[in-house]
Amino acid sequence: PINPKADEICGLKAYPTVAAVPEVADLATISVGRDHVIPAFNQCIEAGIRRVIIISQGFSDADKRGRELQEQITLLARGSGVRVLGPNTLGVTNNFRGLSTGFIDLPRPVKIPPVALIAQTGLLQVAPKEFSGCNWGKAIDIGNACDVDFVDALEYFGTDPEIRVIAVYMEGFLRARKFLEAASRISLTKPIIVFKTGRTAAGARAALSHTGSLVGEDEINDAAFRRAGIIRVKNVSEFRDAVHSFLKFADLSGPRLGVLTPSGAAGIMATDACDDFGFTISNLPENLAGKLKEGLPDWVHIGNPVDIWPVGMLGDGFSSAYKQALCGLLNSPEIDAVLALSLSMSSPLHQDIDIAAVVAEAGKETNNTKPVSMWIYGTAAAATVEKLEAVAQVACFDSVEQAVRGLSFVYRYHQLKGRKIPAQRTFPYDRKAADLLLAKGRQRKVLLGEDALDLLSIFGIPAAAGKIARNWREIEAAAESFSYPLVLKLSGEAFLHKSEWGGVVTDIRNKKELRGAWKKMKENVRLRNPKLKTGFQLQEQAAGKELLLGLKLDPKFGHVLVCGLGGVYAEVFKDISRELVPVGRSEAEKMLSSLKTYPLLKGVRGEAGIDQEGMLEILERLSFLAACVPDIAELDINPLMADAGGCRAVDARIIW
Ligand code: ADP
Ligand code: MG
Repeated sequence: PINPKADEICGLKAYPTVAAVPEVADLATISVGRDHVIPAFNQCIEAGIRRVIIISQGFSDADKRGRELQEQITLLARGSGVRVLGPNTLGVTNNFRGLSTGFIDLPRPVKIPPVALIAQTGLLQVAPKEFSGCNWGKAIDIGNACDVDFVDALEYFGTDPEIRVIAVYMEGFLRARKFLEAASRISLTKPIIVFKTGRTAAGARAALSHTGSLVGEDEINDAAFRRAGIIRVKNVSEFRDAVHSFLKFADLSGPRLGVLTPSGAAGIMATDACDDFGFTISNLPENLAGKLKEGLPDWVHIGNPVDIWPVGMLGDGFSSAYKQALCGLLNSPEIDAVLALSLSMSSPLHQDIDIAAVVAEAGKETNNTKPVSMWIYGTAAAATVEKLEAVAQVACFDSVEQAVRGLSFVYRYHQLKGRKIPAQRTFPYDRKAADLLLAKGRQRKVLLGEDALDLLSIFGIPAAAGKIARNWREIEAAAESFSYPLVLKLSGEAFLHKSEWGGVVTDIRNKKELRGAWKKMKENVRLRNPKLKTGFQLQEQAAGKELLLGLKLDPKFGHVLVCGLGGVYAEVFKDISRELVPVGRSEAEKMLSSLKTYPLLKGVRGEAGIDQEGMLEILERLSFLAACVPDIAELDINPLMADAGGCRAVDARIIW
């Protein structure tokens, strides 16, 4: 302890200044009023201390003066090369070494798990059981992160041999791209669980484009986490169960479950939960049903879920039947993991059922490496769970659903680990022609109609043939080079949503109808605003399903590519998928197949689907466009008309 007024604090000899300490400390912890922090920090720098934790609050978490003070601390840190954690932090805990800098006395746990916590708060360090189900092996509260931040902490635990699982509690991003880069690398060897809060605060804003309004900040976070191989959880209960699963289960390589239950009802609940989380209830191994049925009456039915109660009662007892079934499931090559449910009762009548011993023996006999996810109920559940938690590959959860969900985290991680790093395909394009249009767009901040469609065409994204016309004479002339049916639209920056102006007429069959449409359109505009000058766009009509494609520039992660159901109802159905750019073939495939309307795109009930190859290439080309034109804020193609014969953009807008 350093304090100018005390000789002794908590039984320890106190020094008046840092300089008075006879050795150079490995770490200094500063916990003084905010105005005294910088002088104290300077003392540490002068004494040659290289690592400092600033506990004090009242900095960027508080007011303008606080922000200024924090900036000075950052400058001092950068200038001296001293690394600073905080301010406004509980600091670090390392239970392996019995170190904690917290101002709340945290007891050192008996069992120290290889799990690290990185948080923007001390709450999770103070409540480890509530948030991890167990404890943290090590924890860092980055606080206001004036120097050490998420990226540093992640890199640190990424190479820490004592840490196997990394749990992150995050309110806002700092150095988002660097964080994703680090996470992409580290998630290949250690699961990273992120609990990101503040989801509802920043919803999708009302935007100029459909894409803008359809893609909210949090959906972009989702896409970013997925891309980096991060397991995102949405609430405390998921966070706790995910940590628990990763600590106990080594790996889950497939979705086929064997279910063991003493109750038919629990088996039905399990079946529903498996369905919810994308697991399949596997076929029982060939010989298992037969073996279990040996000597039992005909009416006993053995399936998966295995209802083990009647087998036990009519045969050699519950424990023996349970063990036989569990071994059979664990040995089966058709089963990737076991969901095992059991009662555990305290009454002396049920002393013969020692489920913890049964499961431990089954694990040993089968040399088990498969996850066994359990839900234990009954009056002796707590004691049994404690014993089961000591068995390798066995984890217990508070409900059937949670037991299945626990498996789903590990399976999702298995899939994410196998993901390919997407590569941007390049396409040849006419750079000169593109630059001309881009210059216009940058100057006007927007490209609409034919201009936008032309730019897309330059990048190889097909568009319906069309022409701009100022008056009837030009419309008439343009119609000569097209074949009916035609579409007439209003053109110009005043008409951002043309339909709202009565500015789109489709299905024009002949010149007479064309003239009628033109007259009506002029009249529609005159009625609303007689001073507006009208321009027109004549287009060939395209057939097919209306899709939406888009780009949105996110300030943290760069361009996000969007595709989904288009047309005027795009915002109503909100059936879209999103991926960070670059999008390669396999990401494009995922984008299409994850749409709710995908069956329609594939073709349903004899109805032809769309040209999926064409669509996939368009997604890759849009991703390439984003790479070539990094300053596009939003881009919309709505709709892209798609049928079996191909895809054509008929309306587009690009915003800078
Ligand atoms: P806006 O979005 O500005 O209202 P659009 O050009 O998207 O105008 O046209 C509105 C709707 O008209 C489209 O969603 C589509 O249903 C139809 N449409 C427009 N152009 C064509 C075309 N060339 N072929 C077929 N349908 C079209
Ligand atoms: Mg449109």
